[in-house]
Amino acid sequence: MSRKLLLASLALQVALAAAAFAAPKMKALIIDGQNNHDWKSTTPVLKKDLESSGLFQVDVTTTPPKGGPMEQFKPNFAAYRVVVLNYVGDNWSEPVRTAFLDYVRKGGGVVVYHAADNAFGDWPEFTEIIGLGGWVAWNEKSGPYLYWKDGKIVRDDSPGRAGNHGKQHAYQITVREPKHPIMAGLPPVWMHAKDELYDHMRGPAKNLTLLATAYSDPATRGSGRDEPLMFSITYGKGRIFHTMIGHDPSSMSCVGFIVTLQRGAEWAATGKVKQKVPADFPTATEVRTRP
Ligand code: ZN
Repeated sequence: MSRKLLLASLALQVALAAAAFAAPKMKALIIDGQNNHDWKSTTPVLKKDLESSGLFQVDVTTTPPKGGPMEQFKPNFAAYRVVVLNYVGDNWSEPVRTAFLDYVRKGGGVVVYHAADNAFGDWPEFTEIIGLGGWVAWNEKSGPYLYWKDGKIVRDDSPGRAGNHGKQHAYQITVREPKHPIMAGLPPVWMHAKDELYDHMRGPAKNLTLLATAYSDPATRGSGRDEPLMFSITYGKGRIFHTMIGHDPSSMSCVGFIVTLQRGAEWAATGKVKQKVPADFPTATEVRTRP
């Protein structure tokens, strides 16, 4: 290579690096403020994980406490590429509910995190957006149970409670849609850190792609089924990534949780995943965590 060409090439590389560095980050909004879980300890972890992907600038909006003046909660959904739900509690005001549906229908991304799927079981459009839920106001009116059996999804209309989990333990997560952008390149099975394993979740489950399941073992008071733990949904032009894992900061330290959260948020925001799978991703037998 001539000296002139080399210099031009170097200049180009510097310019490209600068452009990559200066690439505007996508805006993400975490909603918390009420929960049947310790949202004050989990929101900072979600924020850190999303920001460490290098893709997102994260704001947090905290609703008034239970029984508080919910009309003061007025997020500007339209300013964000992805909204992360870490909320179970009082109904949002009617204008906010309408604005949220409008945001998703027009293509806004949503990440549903763990107990956020306990929320709003009596809000039909919300149940369609998040697909499956449990506890609180979720029941057989919400839709069928959904689980995995003999290589396919089973939708089971039998009556019964929605939402359960057995004793916390480490367990294997199995990818069911390896070509989906969120899952592409992940090991087909990985060991997740000690966590709750939701079972008997039910809901409309429309436009749902089941990404990953785990076997809920009766030995840990589970269902004996391969239960859905991660899936994607489309609603209007919006994309939703729903992850049921990550009960507390300890289970959230699993690299499998972190990486699927980051990839799921990128997919919800853009429809693609450009992040590489890191070398410290867990294996089929070994839990891997980050401090
Ligand atoms: Zn939990």
